This record gives sequence, structure tokens and C-alpha cells, in this order.
Amino acid sequence: MTVEERLQDVKQKISAAEREANRSVGDVVLVAVSKTFDVDAIRPVIAAGQRVFGENRVQESEGKWPQLKAETDGIELHLIGPLQSNKAADAVALFDVIETVDREKIARAIASEMRKQGKTLSLYVQVNIGMEPQKAGIEPKETVAFVNFCRGELGLTIEGLMCIPPAEDHPGPYFALLRKLAGEAGVSKLSMGMSGDFETAIGFGATSVRVGSAIFGHR
Ligand SMILES: *Cc1c(COP(=O)(O)O)cnc(C)c1O
Repeated sequence: MTVEERLQDVKQKISAAEREANRSVGDVVLVAVSKTFDVDAIRPVIAAGQRVFGENRVQESEGKWPQLKAETDGIELHLIGPLQSNKAADAVALFDVIETVDREKIARAIASEMRKQGKTLSLYVQVNIGMEPQKAGIEPKETVAFVNFCRGELGLTIEGLMCIPPAEDHPGPYFALLRKLAGEAGVSKLSMGMSGDFETAIGFGATSVRVGSAIFGHR
């Protein structure tokens, strides 16, 4: 299959999962994860109509996306990997959405950079939903307090929650927990589901799915 065919295939599976879950078709946003792929690999996906992309590294993105954004209107770029405070300025300048707000220090750095640059990004809090030591994200039990801190102390609008469930478990219970936390925190968006489990995530209420290898191929 070509990359265009794989994109179509993923989109059809998203529509089928939306119908299966009694949700309206078009409800779920597809974030095409282009990490490790270069501009020549990404251009055909843009040409096929895809506009929302995810990257996990700021520096790698700076080598690709200024150029691609200049070529096409309406690109929306999501940061889905961990952010260090010393990269906050670059991240706020390049990205439209940061999905990995997970600690006070980075929330403060983002808030201060958005003020400095006069730019408002859409923000998600990343939750370490399986409490894995090697994974980033705020602990589930601290999520509501952290969202309230971002809102109250820093004046940030947190739109949703994001998670990456443990690879070895069935993801359903983790997706259900993220949805419950979002309800408690009063946020409406849920970024959950990747190539292996996006249809399951849609069944549990994902509003966006982050799909890489099913579109671009193996990394
Ligand atoms: C790489 C990555 C994805 C996409 O993973 P695939 O299995 O290739 O679809 C999704 N979310 C995050 C945070 C990632 O780093």
C-alpha cells in the first residue's frame, strides 16, 4: 500500500469505529504522527488532505515544519513528546497544540512564553495513566489538582487529557480511567489511541487519536 492508501484505510477505520460507538462520523480528529519521517515522506500525506500532525521532538520538528507550514495553509502541529523548559520558547513558537503538559515547571514556562510571544496554544495535560516509572505524565490522582493549578494559578486553558497506556496491558481500562479523570477535571478532550488501539480508544470516547506507523510505515 502507498502512504495515501494507508491514510485512507486509517480514516475508514476511524469512521467505522465512530459508527460502532454511536458517535457522529467526523467526531474524532486524526493526528498523523510523523516523527522520524522527513519532509519528502510527509508531503504526500499533506497532499492527500491531512492537516493535523504530531511530533515528539522539538528540535527534529524545527528541521521540518517551518518549511512544510510555509508551503501549506492550515497545518496544525501537536507536540506529543516530553518538553524541557529550555525548549519552551521554541515549542510555543512552532507548535499549535502541546499535549504533554505534566508538571508545574513546564506549565509555568509555557504560560510565560505564550505571554511573551502573544500566542495562545491549545494545551493538554499528559497523565501517566499506568503509573509507569519510565513514562512521563502526572499521576492519575494528582490530575484534577494539577489542571486546577494550571487554570487558577497560571490562567491556562487546559482543553483535555492525553495518555499512553502500558504497552503490555489491554488499553480499555486505562482509556476509561482517562475519561473519568477528564470528567472530574472538567475538560472535554481526550487524546488517546495509537496505531494498535485507536479503534478501541474511539469506543472509550477519544476525541483525537495519534496514529504514526499505520500511516507512515515502520520507524
Ligand atoms: C510515536 C507516538 C505515537 C504513534 O505511535 P504509532 O504506534 O506509530 O501509531 C502516538 N503517541 C505518542 C506520544 C507517540 O510518541
